[in-house]
Amino acid sequence: AVDGGERGVNAFLHVNTEEALAVAAEVDAIRAAGGAAAEQLHVLAGVPIAVKDLIVTIGQPTTAGSKILEGWHSPYDATVVKRLRAAKMPILGKTNLDEFAMGSSTEHSAFGPTRNPWDLDRIPGGSGGGSAAAVAAFEAPLALGTDTGGSIRQPGAVTGTVGVKPTYGGVSRYGAIAMASSLDQIGPVSRTVLDSALLHQVIGGHDPFDSTSLPDPLADLVAAARVGNIEGMRIGIIKELHGEGYQAGVENRFNESLELLKQAGAEIVEVSCPNFQYALGAYYLIMPSEASSNLAKFDGVRYGLRVLPEDGPMTIERVMGATRAAGFGAEVKRRIILGTYALSAGYYDAYYGSAQKVRTLVQRDFEAAFAQADVLISPTAPTTAFKLGEKLNDPLAMYLNDVATIPANLAGVPGLTLPGGLADEDGLPVGIQLLAPAREDARLYRVGAVLE
Ligand code: GLN
Repeated sequence: AVDGGERGVNAFLHVNTEEALAVAAEVDAIRAAGGAAAEQLHVLAGVPIAVKDLIVTIGQPTTAGSKILEGWHSPYDATVVKRLRAAKMPILGKTNLDEFAMGSSTEHSAFGPTRNPWDLDRIPGGSGGGSAAAVAAFEAPLALGTDTGGSIRQPGAVTGTVGVKPTYGGVSRYGAIAMASSLDQIGPVSRTVLDSALLHQVIGGHDPFDSTSLPDPLADLVAAARVGNIEGMRIGIIKELHGEGYQAGVENRFNESLELLKQAGAEIVEVSCPNFQYALGAYYLIMPSEASSNLAKFDGVRYGLRVLPEDGPMTIERVMGATRAAGFGAEVKRRIILGTYALSAGYYDAYYGSAQKVRTLVQRDFEAAFAQADVLISPTAPTTAFKLGEKLNDPLAMYLNDVATIPANLAGVPGLTLPGGLADEDGLPVGIQLLAPAREDARLYRVGAVLE
């Protein structure tokens, strides 16, 4: 039994074939005419792209996977979308996600789950399961995702695709509906490392509309993906991010990747990041805290849904209450409650305050590790894709999927996942994660292109 379209995958919430075909036709005409205009076309001109429905677009609805935004149209394009349009990349449609990007399975979407193209009974990861599934199912060659705690990398791992969370500030967040502003990053989803580099080069670089955007020019990531040599590079295995708790087939593919890197001339070292064990706990305080504040704007007045109370006085507070009760799903409500609790007077120091201290410790662990290694490596997720419904009623089990991806968000460092082969037990894709120091995204592409 499958729901939704696309042979049951249900990756898209909205498809915009007409506009996509019009842009493709425009590119064809420019190419056919030749001359300077044809030469100036970007290499990705005419290559269609799917966009996670957390990123706002003119001409297509943006829902964030939530009933509260159903039917809402943004009056402006996100900066990344403007850059896609400037490169003449047809925007194929908007992809499914866990509501407001909260989840690891895409089952928390208000519009039904996306399914993993490798096995329709399994989850495609989350929150960006739609983008990863669209690329894995050959529905789109490229997609955009957002990654707050792993939502680009974990779906990439379980669908056998490539995904990159850029350095914090490396890609503009302007027009990405904010979940946790200090952690969110937009990034590429693709089938090859070079494709991600090409897309990253289109969307990256400074944007005055994002106050956290890095001022420095974007490095040549495409060139890095084409170096084809990692001789003498030091690759650090993070001791705390493999072994116990990781599926045997995941470990096997991980160990094979280390062998491949050695054969390519890299030096493999082991590093220890002792504070990573607290990262998940800190994330699930910081993320809901920021989300509870960011989601306050969905008040039934400014955007989307408005539900009026059935009886009694029509005060703004009661309209807000009725709208949020009907418009938000269970996971979003859970996190708003968690976040407002963690931020409330009397608890602030104990919860939010100590989580921020852990964040500093995680950053220091990374600094120490990067003194010993140029790039760090781990499995991207502890297991292959699990079955739909398996973890839906157990939030803690769901949260544990992010154990290897979250540290990068807490520290703002870039991470890439690439397919490492199929697990022996179940024949499902395994993801290998590479991490680099902030602003050194190029290293991920250099190593990733050799490993893939
Ligand atoms: N799965 C994580 C969460 O539920 C990460 C989400 C994300 O990166 N958007 O918070």
